[in-house]
Amino acid sequence: MSEADAFPTYSIVGNNFGFLGRPLRADAQGADVAVIGVPYDMGTSGRAGTRHGPQGIRAASSNLRWEERRWPWRFNLFERLDVVDCGDIVFPPGESQAMVDALEAAITGHLVAGRKPLVLGGDHFITLPILRAIARHRGQAVRMVHFDAHTDNEATDETRYYHGSMFYHAPREGILDAESSVQVGIRTEYNYENHPFTVIDAEQVARGGVDAVIAEVREVVGNGPVYVTFDIDCLDPAFAPGTGTPVAGGLGTAQALPILRGLKGLDLLGMDIVEVAPCYDHAEITSLAAATLGLEFLYLLASQED
Ligand code: MN
Ligand code: MN
Repeated sequence: MSEADAFPTYSIVGNNFGFLGRPLRADAQGADVAVIGVPYDMGTSGRAGTRHGPQGIRAASSNLRWEERRWPWRFNLFERLDVVDCGDIVFPPGESQAMVDALEAAITGHLVAGRKPLVLGGDHFITLPILRAIARHRGQAVRMVHFDAHTDNEATDETRYYHGSMFYHAPREGILDAESSVQVGIRTEYNYENHPFTVIDAEQVARGGVDAVIAEVREVVGNGPVYVTFDIDCLDPAFAPGTGTPVAGGLGTAQALPILRGLKGLDLLGMDIVEVAPCYDHAEITSLAAATLGLEFLYLLASQED
């Protein structure tokens, strides 16, 4: 029994354990996966509040610890995967560039050490420094599966810290292979010019069904390696009210979770879960969805041994 397992689910955060009750320590030496919180909301365009996302997701995650083998998986995750929660990136409030530098350095450090990142946002802008670190480490542009209500490809000044234009700039920086990337759940107007991503919009998900989405996603990204970014507003506000820019007509968790599980077998580089703003949440609905997506991603990584 691990130390965390000796505590009931509701006492994990109070006793200073991290995501899913994993050890909370800056030094992740020997671990397979590093969980990283990014308490940042300076890039938001609507309602702020995602600086509280990491803590909200960690708190909700404590209640996901009771299953030894999370349904429908048939093994115990932590018998295969050593996961450490490294806590939050530290930067002076208001200093966006300091966040960018600290996050990029942290991701690079984990990659060099052979650890995969699971990043808890923060607003979606944080994905840009993560992609930069991964692309530089690998020496090639990254393929991406992107869940969102928005394409986040607004053409803005590249100096802006903004959560709506990362995927306009990333392909132009040469760090994102947009032709081999796919955006799932889109249901807002976007910059259609020079938009090489495959878009599977929310209505296509609803009409076509989960299996068709999985097949198309896998066709677009090929055999990977691939990065996953999950903006929680991909989910319908019924499943994720606690976010800055909710959009009606989104995915349910009963669609999003099997689509994520449908990435099984791909070479996954890492994942972020962004835009959780607990101040607009009710009954931890949004944080629970985010924590569950993170748990499923860890199972995906662990299942690569199968
Ligand atoms: Mn969004
Ligand atoms: Mn987004």
